[in-house]
Amino acid sequence: MKIVVCVKQTPDTAELPKVNINQVKAGEIGATMIVNPWDEFAIEEGLLLSEKHRADVTAICVGPTQALEALRTSVAMGVGSAILLSDPALVEADALVTARALAAAINKAGGADLVVTGKQSVDGNSGQVSVALARLLGANFLSGVVKVVDVSGGQITVERSLEEGKETVTAKLPAVLSVAREINEPRYPSFMGIRKAAKAAIPTWTVADLGLSAAQVGKAGSVSDWIDLRKPPARAAQVEIIKGDTPEQQAAILMDRLLADKVI
Ligand SMILES: Cc1cc2nc3c(=O)[nH]c(=O)nc-3n(C[C@H](O)[C@H](O)[C@H](O)COP(=O)(O)OP(=O)(O)OC[C@H]3O[C@@H](n4cnc5c(N)ncnc54)[C@H](O)[C@@H]3O)c2cc1C
Repeated sequence: MKIVVCVKQTPDTAELPKVNINQVKAGEIGATMIVNPWDEFAIEEGLLLSEKHRADVTAICVGPTQALEALRTSVAMGVGSAILLSDPALVEADALVTARALAAAINKAGGADLVVTGKQSVDGNSGQVSVALARLLGANFLSGVVKVVDVSGGQITVERSLEEGKETVTAKLPAVLSVAREINEPRYPSFMGIRKAAKAAIPTWTVADLGLSAAQVGKAGSVSDWIDLRKPPARAAQVEIIKGDTPEQQAAILMDRLLADKVI
């Protein structure tokens, strides 16, 4: 069985105040870049499935050269191989073009029985790459996966999280799963893994390697555009220290204030 995990490199949201929103398109974001936190669950699930089914697992990322670091982290966690898809022609790619590049790479790498993605990215946040990828690969799409119950006989059974419960679904392989955070507890990279990742040869494939034309990538191949991009307005916060002679008195005053403000 062949498994692919899709890994995006995103800014560390803890550094959001530092992000220069006007330079996001130019890739000069001004924050530390990390593995998209949702994709850590995808990597972990890919690894668990590969251990259980003795499968190969490959991490693929569309991004600039610096996104190699996200792939090195994936290798340090245990992924067997990694591929970076990087080309100036992919700049200003929307979710569809990103999915197109990923699908072309998966096909070039010999296909996949299972593709595991995160639920969404913490920056672009469209949640559309996974479903577009499934469509382009002609694979079944399973979203909100919280448990892989079984993979056998050319099909997969998963539990999906619904608003008011869970459902168990069976689908034929190949399938693309987008996984939710409840699915597992991502492992930390091991010391040996970090050493292996530092030496790992990670190929970079260009648009030409993927056999895609100029009309299929970048702005030309995109179907959506960023009209505007701005940070939410800073919240005005007021701090009040509750004073009282004893903790009990302070708690009573706090309770009165919360009730008066209809917080509780
Ligand atoms: C017109 C336009 C121009 C843009 N220009 C730029 C630009 O110049 N530079 C830039 O950085 N972004 C740009 N973006 C944003 C970029 O297109 C999206 O971030 C990207 O398509 C992924 O979509 P998403 O972040 O919504 O991912 P989601 O759909 O929310 O991600 C779902 C899952 O798909 C997988 N995935 C998503 N993206 C990738 C990836 N890149 N590699 C591997 N797996 C992935 C991950 O597993 C992820 O958890 C642009 C977007 C638009 C619409």
